[in-house]
Amino acid sequence: MPRKGSRQSYYDDSYDDYYDDYEEEDYADSSSASAPGTAPQQPIWACPICTYDNLEEHQSCEMCGVVRDSPAPIHASGSVPFKFDGPSPDDAILGAVQGSKKPVQGNSHARAKSKAAAPTSDSPGNQSKLSDKEHGVSEKLKKSLVLDGDSEDVKESSKQRLQSTSNKGLPLESYKPEPWMMHQGSKTAEKSLLNLVVVGHVDAGKSTLMGRILHSLGRVSQKEMHKNTKEANEMGKGSFAYAWALDEGVEERARGVTITVAVAHFETAKLRVVLLDAPGHKDFVPNMISGASQADAAVLVVDAAEGGFEAGMGAEGRESGQTREHAQLVRSLGVSQLVVAVNKMDEVQYSQERFEEIKRILTPFLRHCGFRDSSVSYVPVSAIAGENLVSTPSDDLFRAWYTGKDGTLLDALNRLEPPERDIAKPFRLAVAEVVRSRSLGSAAAGGKVESGAIKIGSKVMVMPSREVGVVKNLEQDGKALQTARAGDGVDIGLQGVDAGVIVPGGVLCHPDYPVPIATRFELRILTLKLAFPMLPGAQVVVHAHHAKEPGTVTNLTALIDAKTGQAVKRSPRCLTSNQSALVEVAPERGLCVQEYIKFRGLGRVVLRSEGRTLAVGIITRIISYQ
Ligand code: GDP
Repeated sequence: MPRKGSRQSYYDDSYDDYYDDYEEEDYADSSSASAPGTAPQQPIWACPICTYDNLEEHQSCEMCGVVRDSPAPIHASGSVPFKFDGPSPDDAILGAVQGSKKPVQGNSHARAKSKAAAPTSDSPGNQSKLSDKEHGVSEKLKKSLVLDGDSEDVKESSKQRLQSTSNKGLPLESYKPEPWMMHQGSKTAEKSLLNLVVVGHVDAGKSTLMGRILHSLGRVSQKEMHKNTKEANEMGKGSFAYAWALDEGVEERARGVTITVAVAHFETAKLRVVLLDAPGHKDFVPNMISGASQADAAVLVVDAAEGGFEAGMGAEGRESGQTREHAQLVRSLGVSQLVVAVNKMDEVQYSQERFEEIKRILTPFLRHCGFRDSSVSYVPVSAIAGENLVSTPSDDLFRAWYTGKDGTLLDALNRLEPPERDIAKPFRLAVAEVVRSRSLGSAAAGGKVESGAIKIGSKVMVMPSREVGVVKNLEQDGKALQTARAGDGVDIGLQGVDAGVIVPGGVLCHPDYPVPIATRFELRILTLKLAFPMLPGAQVVVHAHHAKEPGTVTNLTALIDAKTGQAVKRSPRCLTSNQSALVEVAPERGLCVQEYIKFRGLGRVVLRSEGRTLAVGIITRIISYQ
């Protein structure tokens, strides 16, 4: 059964429209580029570091700046995309990974400023401040050890707490996974896991589509479907009956929109799919970011009806268009495989021309977002009529041209490839929600394991509180588990920690290799359409995995030429639309994040302001942390 996550449903940004950014010119150009009989499609190369797919014309990665065709990835060759006086930010990351204590030079003004504002982790001042703080924590923990020393496990975990709060953790390179973590055993026969997010413009039919698939696959019972149909009819919203399998909230049903991210499970021939149904409405884009940050692949639902598709693309002077924003965001959040479900084909009499038109328009647009053509498939469907979802079309008009080479939507999902998982790295789980469940106990968290593995009895540190607890229960889709590995979406019941320290946006991690609580970091960003130029001191909302924190863009370090990867201007006065830049950001409170190169899932950031997405990017360096 689908379970409704409480995933950051408190976000309700007032959303000014920024879809005036739809650039008709770009759009027309790129569309025509792929039209039959015109120039061949621009080939794409994948960055060896961040795997971002770049157009061939780019000499360096648009996302992280790695120079194309360098003999080896940047960390091996030492080649740098920047022409700074000192080491590049990437070198700085590398230096950190390799334990180098060399100070970063380059933009000395910025560094001096940032040191003054917040001492770097290397500075002695910071060390003494930290140890004072840690001392305070230890005193509190000592007291709690006396008070709550009920079981051996708890005592042990509290002792561990005392130890782990007094150090910053071991260097990542010293981490050696235990044999059981890597061991897959009989799992080889099991289906691979895929986290799938469903995105698209509001009313494109996402919930109906997924509700219908779940129903067809027996994941929503007849009884429940009957109840939903009855209740939907009573509210005069009969057409939403399938959507209600996923939209369970009162407000969602009343407004007919998805607000939170629903989680459901189903299987294809080769995959166990964890389905995340993300909100399409413009007010709930942050919730969609939260859902997409857990995903391995995405279904982009577009509305084939006349005007419906265009509304989603924000074309023709229309105000909104989440098809465009969602596609950009999911790609920026690391999703590289996309199934485009061209829905509501019944409304256009299953017209092949309309399907081809949508495909022709979307192909160059998605390529522009960074999707490789070979990683995108298009499937015409009608969610409401159940056409081409799990079985081949039955409508004659549809069957007349759709020979089914690409198969049904379920076939397309089955062809998705689960990504490589970071099992050999220390454990990290970004907390998506605080779980309230009798079976898991009072302190429980839900989310996707980003890296490493845990089992019952493993110790984990809860960040940012730094409390250490013991894993008492593991559940997936309500079923008990013994172990959870990178890629698994799990609920974890902990013993030895206060329930209050588990917060969405926090991270559970290996106690010896804790995630840093960053107070200032450097980002490589791509700006989207900006209503106003971004100036140093700009107030933004920083989104990273499930965390959301107000912050300040403290420094515009350099403007970068996306094609060459070189810094074209240091300390620019401002940033405008569609620019690639290196900036420094300081969240108001520390965020549990990491450099993208070390932990991808914790290193992607979206900057928003007043409901608009300003920029997407990756963390290239953590400048200071608590
Ligand atoms: P969401 O906002 O993307 O989740 O969209 P919903 O699933 O809530 O659907 C929005 C509206 O579109 C509802 O009235 C649905 O009944 C309707 N709808 C969904 N799929 C189809 C379809 O394939 N054909 C038609 N004609 N209507 C559909």
